[in-house]
Amino acid sequence: MTSSPDLAAKTMLAHERLNEHYGIKEIYGRADSMHELIGTILSHRTTHANEVTAYRTMRERFPTWESVRDAPLPDLIDAIRTATYPEVKAPYIQLVLARLFAERGEADIDFLHDLSTEAAMQWLTDLPGVGPKTATLLLLFNFKKPVMPVDTHVHRVTQRLGMIGPKVSANKAHELLLSYLPADATVLFNFHKHFYWHGQRVCTWYDPKCSECVLQSMCDFYQSGGTAALSSTPVRRRQ
Ligand code: SF4
Repeated sequence: MTSSPDLAAKTMLAHERLNEHYGIKEIYGRADSMHELIGTILSHRTTHANEVTAYRTMRERFPTWESVRDAPLPDLIDAIRTATYPEVKAPYIQLVLARLFAERGEADIDFLHDLSTEAAMQWLTDLPGVGPKTATLLLLFNFKKPVMPVDTHVHRVTQRLGMIGPKVSANKAHELLLSYLPADATVLFNFHKHFYWHGQRVCTWYDPKCSECVLQSMCDFYQSGGTAALSSTPVRRRQ
């Protein structure tokens, strides 16, 4: 079994290889952090195109955040219906807005800049409909806080490589990967983006393209002939 110092070294090596492969980027996010917050709630299990349509339709029908908060629920559900679970997301959005107006008098979360990473994370994850993934995406992309969003791609690829064990949840993976990497937002942003892209384009769930992969020589899944015990079990591996 690989020890933690070895896992940290392996994680950094994989990070450096993907830096070379995909190139290092500056952190970018939506300029409007409220758009990012509500957009991220809408994006859960929803394609980007459908999230964009849901957000745009909502803002066209309800141009102010007060009008979104106060909209009749069926009308808001209808406005965001291109997102999945609109009947769940619409009440979440109204509860988030109600809390913001009650606590701060406005729909603005830029005060998170002034909070510690831990306090900002706590504040966000206390909101209805905002889990660790949404909170970390927002804090890293918009507030440049040193956190690690672990989505399905980051989770699967780091598991296949053997950086995290097969039963490690996405929330636990967040902690483990942070412990292996420097607490530097630019490093974490690039790590997240590169593993996300790699999972989308190369290390896909069903058909990982191992013969094209720059991480092949360090990959537990590949070295085991595709039989390493993984929670995100693929069906086929192309050579
Ligand atoms: Fe994924 Fe295959 Fe690359 Fe391993 S070698 S990271 S399984 S594509």
